[in-house]
Amino acid sequence: MIPDSGASSLSSLPSVERLLRHDETAGLIAEFGRSAVTSAIRSVLASLRHELRTDDSTVIPGDIVLILAAGQQLHEGAQPSLRRVFNLTGTVLHTNLGRATLPEEAIQAILLAAREPTNLEFNLLDGRRGERDTHLENDLCRLTGAEAATVVNNNAAAVLLVLNSLANRKEVPASRGELVEIGGSFRMPEIMARSGCRLREVGTTNRTHLSDYEDAIGPKTGLVMKIHTSNYSIVGFTAEVPEASLASLCHERGVPFVVDLGSGTLIDLQKFGLPYEPTPAESIANGADLVTFSGDKLLGGPQSGIIVGRAVLINAIKRNPLKRALRVDKMTIAALSAVLQLYSNPESLHHRLPVLRLLTRRVEDVQALADLLRGPLASKLEGVAAVDSVFCESQVGSGALPTRKIPSAGLSIRPISKKQGSGTVLERIACAFRELPVPVIGRIQDGALIFDLRCLEDETEFAGQLPAFNLLGVRTK
Ligand SMILES: *Cc1c(COP(=O)(O)O)cnc(C)c1O
Repeated sequence: MIPDSGASSLSSLPSVERLLRHDETAGLIAEFGRSAVTSAIRSVLASLRHELRTDDSTVIPGDIVLILAAGQQLHEGAQPSLRRVFNLTGTVLHTNLGRATLPEEAIQAILLAAREPTNLEFNLLDGRRGERDTHLENDLCRLTGAEAATVVNNNAAAVLLVLNSLANRKEVPASRGELVEIGGSFRMPEIMARSGCRLREVGTTNRTHLSDYEDAIGPKTGLVMKIHTSNYSIVGFTAEVPEASLASLCHERGVPFVVDLGSGTLIDLQKFGLPYEPTPAESIANGADLVTFSGDKLLGGPQSGIIVGRAVLINAIKRNPLKRALRVDKMTIAALSAVLQLYSNPESLHHRLPVLRLLTRRVEDVQALADLLRGPLASKLEGVAAVDSVFCESQVGSGALPTRKIPSAGLSIRPISKKQGSGTVLERIACAFRELPVPVIGRIQDGALIFDLRCLEDETEFAGQLPAFNLLGVRTK
């Protein structure tokens, strides 16, 4: 039942056709196309119709206002879902924020591979079919000391492919202390099961000995796996078997020894004043037959999973049909190749590779940035929150160097009102920063919003968008 007054209002709604013919609509049609504009107008009219039915006081706006509303809907819908953000979380390799940012060389290589045909799987010497791994294999072998290499979509895929290629329907002994979960979705026991392997847990959570592996290796063993416990560490009364001893045991028994390094940086990070992190080259030198690691963790490249090691094993992996399902695309190859090139000049690496540049940034420089930005931010938040320049600690993230923090500096934003609801004020402030043109993501810690400025490289742009900061009704009292 539609009341009389409502019915007369409803009948005076403009038609879709009339709004489409309006001069103001022409620009929208040119930009978004007739069918998208028609849908947007329909949707604006539908919400207005709903309002008229439920609220007698609703007034029908002019045609221009309706067209503007449709235009706003179209523009909002055209915003890409994937957007740039400022990562001020203090976690340099933040998985939820895309991990490593790429060096300019890699970005240029991606553009070229995207825009033009390439010799991705084409041998320019003999004019025959080639293999996409060839673009990376030489560099990976040179940097790790391995005989051969192959690359897949991420390290989870690398582990899956290694296990399925070499240990399908077989047992895989692994230490109880190393059955890691990465970010909820990658759990070593589950990957083993999905790869068709039977996990054979050896040792205990805190101590695993060589004799535990000796007892576990038998005719059913497909390979022995050692996993770098990248996002936790077991301390106290502990024992693990060194790679070299495990490698000798495996070679005596004739089973492959595989190391999943997780992050796997290609150079000694201690040279840059950073904590020690094992490298694939060390594992290969220790006798590992295969090593798997990520391309977008400490290596600083695109998302990818790298497998290096003995040629016979790598060839078996390449022949697995799953390799085809897990292969990387040309843009990943282009980017990874460009990043590996940078490693041939390690002296300039900490300037050119963003991950290393951010991790090695001097705390004094970050602190200077905090002092510079404190004033403008404080005046924006006057009466709402206190803004202080603070020391804080960054972390590498993505499971690399989990227990080692890197001294850093930033800003602490603490709501003035300590009364009930101050938690909400904090959340609203955080929300207002996320609503900026380039959303700013910090971390909430001990009742304050912390912006770790280690990863802020364009402070002018950051400050430039502060005028758009809108507190959305954040109240002081
Ligand atoms: C991160 C990690 C993985 C998964 O690597 P992705 O590249 O994220 O797929 C596997 N194993 C270890 C030990 C890791 O640290």
